[in-house]
Amino acid sequence: MPTCTGMELASVIRQIEAFVGLPIVFLSAETDRDKQLAAVGLGGDDFLVKPIKPEHLISAVVSRTERYRKLRSVMMRDGLTGLFNHSSITDRLEQEAARARRQQIPLSVVMIDIDHFKQVNDTYGHPVGDRVIKSLARLLTQRLRVTDIVGRYGGEEFLVILPDTAAEQALSLVDKLREAFSQLLQHAGGKRFFTTCSVGVASHPTWTEPAALKEAADQALYQAKRGGRNRVALAAAPALGGH
Ligand code: GH3
Ligand code: MG
Ligand code: MG
Repeated sequence: MPTCTGMELASVIRQIEAFVGLPIVFLSAETDRDKQLAAVGLGGDDFLVKPIKPEHLISAVVSRTERYRKLRSVMMRDGLTGLFNHSSITDRLEQEAARARRQQIPLSVVMIDIDHFKQVNDTYGHPVGDRVIKSLARLLTQRLRVTDIVGRYGGEEFLVILPDTAAEQALSLVDKLREAFSQLLQHAGGKRFFTTCSVGVASHPTWTEPAALKEAADQALYQAKRGGRNRVALAAAPALGGH
């Protein structure tokens, strides 16, 4: 390559945290095994030597890409629900908050927490509790739009990002979800029961920073809990200036 070597490029790519897992396959006429291994040592995954049959090159790249996609999905997803896990939903919140600010479009952030979940575990056992968590995860993914982003933030707590959605619209949307969850019949052996959840909503541009959006949604969730649970609360706008 005219301006930098493959090894230079590989070491630059490897310095970028987001690209740490990206597969790198060297294709070169280099036959010196020491030099090949040095290239792999810089973070390459394989070293192919020219000339190579096109189908061999394609299969080497395809197999690594597939493996990378699988690994990335395992790393980003929560094992129980298949939703984004804590760290990936936090990343997505940062991206979406930045996008909302840049494009000056609304954004709503939603925190959902299952009510009296400890009682569910205590009464019916942990595996039944897990099923309740999964049922809420399924409801969220089925009912939300494909552009909405759903994550399991912690135990029985979910973080939902609604891009291009202002507070009023978010409130009516999540209230329908809350209602649907409260009507979902849960099973534990022969017994049947219902569970509810509380929801807090905070929106851009009342808050702009991702941490502030999350904190405001948390505060609203706390209000919903204090207000008697099985309800949605909107974060109160912070007082401007004054005392
Ligand atoms: P509140 O209405 O105030 O939210 O009451 P709560 O009982 O839901 O509150 P708390 O946050 O104290 O309890 C959450 C419980 O969730 C505690 C923990 O044992 C349980 N839990 C956390 N993660 C999991 C999980 O993956 N599976 C199951 N079955 N339980 C979990
Ligand atoms: Mg909780
Ligand atoms: Mg709870």
